[in-house]
Amino acid sequence: MVVIQCPHCEQDIELEDGVSGLFDCPHCGNGFSFGDNELVAPNLFDRSQLFMSRGMKIGLAINAIGVITFMGFAIFEDGGGGSWGNYAAAVVPCGIVAIGIPIVVISFLIRGY
Ligand SMILES: [Zn+2]
Repeated sequence: MVVIQCPHCEQDIELEDGVSGLFDCPHCGNGFSFGDNELVAPNLFDRSQLFMSRGMKIGLAINAIGVITFMGFAIFEDGGGGSWGNYAAAVVPCGIVAIGIPIVVISFLIRGY
């Protein structure tokens, strides 16, 4: 048995395992559908797995490198590296992320269809 809540009166309703379709609530008499959610969830999971395709992983990896580079510059910048160091600390990670983000977005859009 599965116990669900009526979407209308929020009372508990017992249903047989594996059933799906339209039911009438025994408490308030309103109809509701059950079972579709269980079918939708794995599909969404599969789709999210598809989103994490090769292109997206590469894009995320590039973004991660950008963030790590930024943190690296931030750590080694403590000694006061001068203007070039500040410039590089800002521009290099931003440049890497600027490359990575479009790759993620494009991969996402391609996989979205
Ligand atoms: Zn009800």
